[in-house]
Amino acid sequence: MTEARDARHTPEGVAIPAFEADYAPADEALVPALLIEIAHPPGEDERVASRAKRYIEAIRHARGGIGGLEDFMHDYSLSTKEGLALMSLAEALLRVPDAATQDRLIEDKLASGDWEHAAARDSESWLVSATTWALGVTVRIVHPNETPEGIIARLGQRLGMPTVRTAARQAMRLLGHQFVLGETIGSALSRAAEARRRGYRHSFDMLGEGARTSDDAGRYFEAYAKAIEAIGASAEGALPGRPGISVKLSALHPRYVARQHARVMAELVPRLIELSRAAKAHDLNLTVDAEEADRLELSLDVFAKLLEEPSLAGWDGLGLAVQAYQKRAPHVIDWLADASRAANRRLMVRLVKGAYWDTEVKRAQERGLPDFPVFTRKPATDLCFLACAKRLLAARPRLYPQFATHNALTAAAIVEMAKEGKGGDREFEFQRLHGMSEALYEEAHGRDGYDCRIYAPVGSHKELLAYLVRRLLENGANSSFVNAVNDHSVPIESLLESPSESLAGRSPRHSGIALPKDIFAARKNSRGLEFGSREDLAALVDGVASAREVAPVADASLEDARAAVDAAVAAHPAWEATPSEERAAILERAADAIEGSCDSLVALLAREGGKTLDDGIAEIREAVDFGRYYAAEARRLFARDTILPGPTGEENRYRLRGRGVFVCISPWNFPLAIFTGQVAAALAAGNTVLAKPAEQTPKIAREAVAMFHAAGVPQDALKLVPGDGKIGAALVADPRIAGVAFTGSTEVGQIINRTLAGKDGPIVPLVAETGGINAMIADATALPEQVTDDVVTSAFRSAGQRCSAARILFVQADVADHMLKMIAGAAAELRLGDPADPTTDIGPVIDREAKQALEAWLAKMRREETILFAGKTLQAGNFVAPHIVELKRADALTKEVFGPVLHVVRWPAGRLDDVLAWIGRTGYGLTFGIHTRVGGRAERVARALRVGNIYVNRNTIGAIVGSQPFGGMGLSGTGPKAGGPNYLQRFAHEQVVSTDTTAAGGNASLVTMEDRAEPGARS
Ligand SMILES: Cc1cc2nc3c(=O)[nH]c(=O)nc-3n(C[C@H](O)[C@H](O)[C@H](O)COP(=O)(O)OP(=O)(O)OC[C@H]3O[C@@H](n4cnc5c(N)ncnc54)[C@H](O)[C@@H]3O)c2cc1C
Repeated sequence: MTEARDARHTPEGVAIPAFEADYAPADEALVPALLIEIAHPPGEDERVASRAKRYIEAIRHARGGIGGLEDFMHDYSLSTKEGLALMSLAEALLRVPDAATQDRLIEDKLASGDWEHAAARDSESWLVSATTWALGVTVRIVHPNETPEGIIARLGQRLGMPTVRTAARQAMRLLGHQFVLGETIGSALSRAAEARRRGYRHSFDMLGEGARTSDDAGRYFEAYAKAIEAIGASAEGALPGRPGISVKLSALHPRYVARQHARVMAELVPRLIELSRAAKAHDLNLTVDAEEADRLELSLDVFAKLLEEPSLAGWDGLGLAVQAYQKRAPHVIDWLADASRAANRRLMVRLVKGAYWDTEVKRAQERGLPDFPVFTRKPATDLCFLACAKRLLAARPRLYPQFATHNALTAAAIVEMAKEGKGGDREFEFQRLHGMSEALYEEAHGRDGYDCRIYAPVGSHKELLAYLVRRLLENGANSSFVNAVNDHSVPIESLLESPSESLAGRSPRHSGIALPKDIFAARKNSRGLEFGSREDLAALVDGVASAREVAPVADASLEDARAAVDAAVAAHPAWEATPSEERAAILERAADAIEGSCDSLVALLAREGGKTLDDGIAEIREAVDFGRYYAAEARRLFARDTILPGPTGEENRYRLRGRGVFVCISPWNFPLAIFTGQVAAALAAGNTVLAKPAEQTPKIAREAVAMFHAAGVPQDALKLVPGDGKIGAALVADPRIAGVAFTGSTEVGQIINRTLAGKDGPIVPLVAETGGINAMIADATALPEQVTDDVVTSAFRSAGQRCSAARILFVQADVADHMLKMIAGAAAELRLGDPADPTTDIGPVIDREAKQALEAWLAKMRREETILFAGKTLQAGNFVAPHIVELKRADALTKEVFGPVLHVVRWPAGRLDDVLAWIGRTGYGLTFGIHTRVGGRAERVARALRVGNIYVNRNTIGAIVGSQPFGGMGLSGTGPKAGGPNYLQRFAHEQVVSTDTTAAGGNASLVTMEDRAEPGARS
């Protein structure tokens, strides 16, 4: 952390200022100030509108000519099934090596689209026609019962699936050709020559997803280095007119994330310096692409290192992309202006709106941030773009502005703005993506003479598709200019509305996008933390470091346990009589207290439970969510009686009541969340509680109980009864117990069940969540990078000590080598260590016994199976490094291995049912994950498996209260699911009070009824 705060200096010793800006301020606070900032001279609006109108007319006039993405997106808008189907198909098809899966994928995607009738059929664009042709043929095959229509359909039927597959793939390739300049830098450079002759500049980009492994990062580095040499060899002119390269930092390092600041500085920066030196040697423009918001501060630290580097001094080609949708964008521009002044050199600054808007909104909601780091209304982004542009233009010549937009109105506004201040009305360039906005820039560049650079992706078509999907998503969106300009039903006037006009008198915030805290209607979402905010992360780390040590907890004796039962029994009537609203309010206060004690609880979770900071925050949030969720459920289910239907003259009232004393036995792996969840549910339902935490984690339990008491739960309504299994057994065996909530091993669950069954007296409920041998399946259509991320998270996060963790991965044989290599490479990047250190990915396992059990299992695996990967472990402490074990047969996995050990098995295409049968035979049914682009397959598999929580194209851990109620079937638990709508009922008795309202001598309500006919009925 200290590294991040180190002051930076230029080679001349001038201090480079630190970047500081609120991560996610409120839209309402920013937009009014931006509106004032872009106030401009009278008449400018008209000039902008008139220029924009000309550009738009040119675009509309050119449509249908050479064909481009715009045509394609217009015809297959994302709002249609066809558009979505095509997008998934495009993304997946070229990755699929085996014919069977290709057929399944084509069938699945194309069956859902009405290709026959898509508007594209009549398009004159060669691109759209060609693609439609291929897809049109395909749909005929998919629906063989449809009446064949025309020659294409008949042809399709005659050709059969293999030809259709080829046709569809060719269509995808065609798309690829449209948006990739060349598969190699050599071919890209020769293809660029024609545009160069017309005065365009280029910035080349190496296609691909971010690096997951150090091998990937090495390959990207080589590709960039080779490209720089090739570009340099053919470059002409002087900067800023010379060509350049765009570099993604996530491609140069497998752990380019804020938590790994020190590694990024030590490992990524030297690579970037080397590339920059090469770019400098050829006097090229090297621009660092802008990525996700949580990486912004990290990227600026990396960038500052380049300014510090003596060997790069005097080079005017270094550049950075800035995203105007980020609320911090104006601060980034100011920082760049200050930094360039300090370094006494020119910087090139590409201003974009930003490519990951949907991801940013989702991430902020998921992470429970106070607000979004991006604007929520499109005109606010447009406005911020203009405000940033104004600052950029004012900072010339220190900053060289590069405006990357496909929006004619934005471009026109820039042109007019540049005419205002000092700095020359042409001292900037526009940028566009290859394959897009050709018509706009034929006008702005070709006719008006403004400089324009083309961002030109280079790489194989296989790598293009993720890029293409981003472009489709971004530009196919309703709010996108490209989408609107190509829709001739949209009047030009509406395209000319300036951002200020769109925002005038209206809220700067989108009313349809709930703030992270408001995404759950009935309750507040738990507050999270963004590790990408240096300030917030540093505050957490400091808070954790300074958290006080807490005293040990003494085990309860059997005598104590009996006394606790006495007290809880006595306390029950009063607690049950407490109105549910009051019980709910108490639980909410307890949840607030837990949320408010984040630092000390994270510290305790790290010290007692070995939880990393990430895991600690997630656990606290889950505990808070449980408290609030069950409070809301108490209001929903217990606040009032339900009147049930019946004959006139009687009343039937249905209500839920607490059962009595509940024993809650919780595990060490979620010592706060599961503990709190069980206790809150039992209390919410009007029970008093004996809470028996795991013997490894009593301190956390004691803290939680103290918070419940402080929030208003009477002392005797919640008693902590710490101790080992004997204490739990004594509580369960007590005849006065009204029910047991248990989370832990299947074995102990069964012992509890037998104890309860062996008792005389009332038969009481057992709510048990037990273990699982959780499987994941990846087929050939899955994106390897996504599989890698999700497998690594599912198998190794929390040192694999989650009951939801993936224990066995079934990977389709055709893609297994590649995928397993990537997964092993990503696992190799994980770091073991002190869980309170933010750079730690994996903390220790819970105790020595756990470590020994895991080591014994690994020793057996080493003898009998193949170890694909063994991570580096630490000698001191209870650490177990991640392992990947390839099994000859899945049957070798005979039990739940509760640690960072992933077992893998290859399955041949066509044998998926065998895999499903194996999963069924385990008898467990807790979590399951599948990675596939074949939508029908995910659904089929979900229906075939008796598993409680199924995750499609994501990881299998971290179930969210209320969104993903958690709990399994079979050997994995009794249900109902924790954090789900049926949970509280299991903690309650049902009661119905039926009253004969005629008993007092007559049915008053019936006889006093007015004469009334059925509405609308005729006599
Ligand atoms: C040469 C070039 C280089 C690029 N490099 C990068 C890069 O390094 N990093 C990067 O992230 N992107 C990059 N992009 C992509 C760029 O972000 C998008 O192309 C751009 O946002 C589209 O803006 P526009 O002005 O062309 O279109 P417009 O249609 O005017 O704007 C669309 C944009 O508005 C924003 N938006 C949409 N809905 C909302 C909403 N409800 N609230 C707030 N904002 C909204 C989004 O940013 C969306 O992309 C680059 C683009 C080009 C042309």
